[in-house]
Amino acid sequence: MNKVLTIGEVLVEIVATTRGNGFLAAQPLVGPFPSGAPAIFIDQVGKLGTPCAIISRVGDDDFGRVNLKRLRADGVDVSGIEIAAGESTGSAFVRYREDGSRAFVYNIRHAACGKLRPTAASEALIESCTHLHVMGSAFSAPELGGMVMDAARRIKAQGGTISFDPNLRPELLDAPGMRAALAAVLAMTDLFMPSGEELFLFDAGRDEPAVIAALLDRGIRTVVVKRGAGGASLFQRGLRVDAKPLAVEEVDPTGAGDTFGGAFLSLWLAGSDPAEALRLANAAGARAVTRLGPMEGTSTRAELDALLSEQKG
Ligand code: ADP
Repeated sequence: MNKVLTIGEVLVEIVATTRGNGFLAAQPLVGPFPSGAPAIFIDQVGKLGTPCAIISRVGDDDFGRVNLKRLRADGVDVSGIEIAAGESTGSAFVRYREDGSRAFVYNIRHAACGKLRPTAASEALIESCTHLHVMGSAFSAPELGGMVMDAARRIKAQGGTISFDPNLRPELLDAPGMRAALAAVLAMTDLFMPSGEELFLFDAGRDEPAVIAALLDRGIRTVVVKRGAGGASLFQRGLRVDAKPLAVEEVDPTGAGDTFGGAFLSLWLAGSDPAEALRLANAAGARAVTRLGPMEGTSTRAELDALLSEQKG
């Protein structure tokens, strides 16, 4: 039986309710919502019934508890989340600008999840899991990056598989060692899930078909390109499938890519037909944007089927 592992930040997100003033004026805020890209991803994997776990760190506080409760309820093994006494759970405050773009105030580096380190529980999970999902953003923190790289090498050596979502803000790309770390992960990757321009990370200056062909030639089995409100595409040797975007009302795009990735991975690991896996992941991403709060839009299989049949009718 496959068991999926990811490693990284668990935090809460708190959202401003006004656009123009951002956080410069007092206002009602909404949240705390469970969050953190790896947490959203693994919550979606759990909701689809695939055995899964996350290695992370939270404080002994309500922000930590709200995450533990949600992840547990959705089927995620939380034994690898260390509860750090005397430390605070990470948080992110998000506001939307008038044009719909987002700006964040983060408290991550000095929070519990910014000091992730191996524990007996995390070591045991690395030994027992068969798949690791890597997020590129892990490499912006040297200790976390080192843990993720070590886990990737071990899971690969155990005969497991790796999925990789670059998940990188462009300004992080030029951090010391970042490109070398991303290239080392790519060399171990079985399923690559970039969004938009991230496809060209390793191969700037060539067009999409050439970049995809090069990735498949390196031995990557499946490449899935996330295209936001443009849908998504899947590539395997001799196969291209496109999924048109579903018509949904976008309320909050945060977490769509992680939700899409979690859904696609669950189906891919189960050996589903690639077109069917893409169709359901496209629905998971679409459903995610209709809910306020990054993890509020993760879906069960029944919710995905309902959205897809609604859109057919
Ligand atoms: P990321 O958050 O990694 O940038 P995207 O924004 O590309 O990811 O979203 C992931 C997927 O979610 C898309 O490929 C698409 O399937 C779906 N999606 C995202 N935004 C929308 C939208 N506005 N309408 C319909 N589907 C969407």
